[in-house]
Amino acid sequence: MKYHLVILGCQMNHADAERMQAVMAKLGYASTDREEDADVIGIIACSVRQKAIDKVYSKIAKWNKWKNKKNLVTFVSGCVLPDDRQKFLKLFDLVFDMKELASFPAMLSQYGVTTPLSNTTKIYEADMAEAAKPATAAQKLKYAGVRPVSNVSAAPQTWDVEPIYNSSFEAYIPIQNGCNKFCTYCAVPYTRGREVSRPSSDILKEAMQLINSGYKSITLLGQNVNSYGLDKKGEELSFAELLDQLGQMADDSGNEVWVYFTSPHPRDMTRDVIEAISRHRSLAKQIHLPVQSGSDKVLIRMNRKYSMDRYRDVVTWIRELLPTATLFTDVIVGFTGEDEEQFESTRAAMREFKYNMAYIAMYSPRPGAASFAWQDDVSHAVKKERYAILTKDLEKVAIVHTEKMKGQTVRMLVRGKDKKEAYLTGHTEGKIIVRFPSSDESLIGQFVDVKIESVRPFSVEGELVKQTVEV
Ligand code: SF4
Repeated sequence: MKYHLVILGCQMNHADAERMQAVMAKLGYASTDREEDADVIGIIACSVRQKAIDKVYSKIAKWNKWKNKKNLVTFVSGCVLPDDRQKFLKLFDLVFDMKELASFPAMLSQYGVTTPLSNTTKIYEADMAEAAKPATAAQKLKYAGVRPVSNVSAAPQTWDVEPIYNSSFEAYIPIQNGCNKFCTYCAVPYTRGREVSRPSSDILKEAMQLINSGYKSITLLGQNVNSYGLDKKGEELSFAELLDQLGQMADDSGNEVWVYFTSPHPRDMTRDVIEAISRHRSLAKQIHLPVQSGSDKVLIRMNRKYSMDRYRDVVTWIRELLPTATLFTDVIVGFTGEDEEQFESTRAAMREFKYNMAYIAMYSPRPGAASFAWQDDVSHAVKKERYAILTKDLEKVAIVHTEKMKGQTVRMLVRGKDKKEAYLTGHTEGKIIVRFPSSDESLIGQFVDVKIESVRPFSVEGELVKQTVEV
């Protein structure tokens, strides 16, 4: 029997999907890319854009027609707004929160589905009961100089299920779910709920297993990673302590690995986080610090809860303690009420912070977010113009960094074949894209050194110098 999974949205949904796939495999289902061949079809939904929500409705309309001709079970999970959830209940066979993933086998069985390996329906119930118990002293991982980690798991979470990783060299570890920030343009606090931190003992255990298995790139995932542990203050590690322990563990392993995290929030990005990164070679020197706007007035309307002065302080710590770090950001242009002067402040921020990369988005109201009810009063033409101007500004500051790479030999992780024929591609520790001529696919998933010969604002190209010798 086969299943087909549609994954929409961000890295968090993709990490959740790896756990969904593990559950399906335990039930005896094989994955198929062809939805027509599937006995069970599911969708991990995203509510960030109307387009993604429309896609869920069009998919289920099609799948429900197929039910006239074949036995088919459909489900939806992921980021779903309460209103859509009510509508989905009438359209899908199963609608559940990702936190309930461990109970999915039981849901299928209650629905009357006989799964290929139906005796496994109890497996996760046992796992959940085990996860809910407090950790024994022996289960707690201890590292010198830092207080022992706690295991304060309570309500079930997606991370209680062991995933099947889609890559053999890069992996994502969920460390936190939900958000308490309520930025006015974002629906995440309404779809994923309030912040819940994963027990640090579980995070360190999963990271250690990945490092020992030779993973080269690990990304800690959360909607707002900097507030990790704040929901369990005094009982759980802070984000800086978590990074410190993980960095120490990775450094001590003797394996080469780059550990990243996303997404941080400037308000909660404390100096001790930057200090922790500076102490460990395994913690990647790449920081993604979403600015969203360079205008304090716009930041207030966005409810971002920081000022440009605060943001500037964080960048100053980064430049002081991590001089080689690359700096990435997110920007929204044309947010409700953004005037010329406010847009000019964002341009000034681009020049001041000299980003290596910025993901620039034209504002569009998102269903479920507070600003959805506000008048979207910056015209599409103006948004497009501001987008183009800011992209040009970004190119000007980014190329200053990549120009410095010309003639240098840089370390990179090869991630796959490039669009350019007979080229491989990947990125540096700072996530600058690198291409080099090679058709040797055995290099994918390896660290190699490349001598840079030509550069663009966001990518560089060169010749392979040498490959890491695996021991
Ligand atoms: S910090 Fe803001 S943008 Fe990020 S998930 Fe929370 S509400 Fe959304």
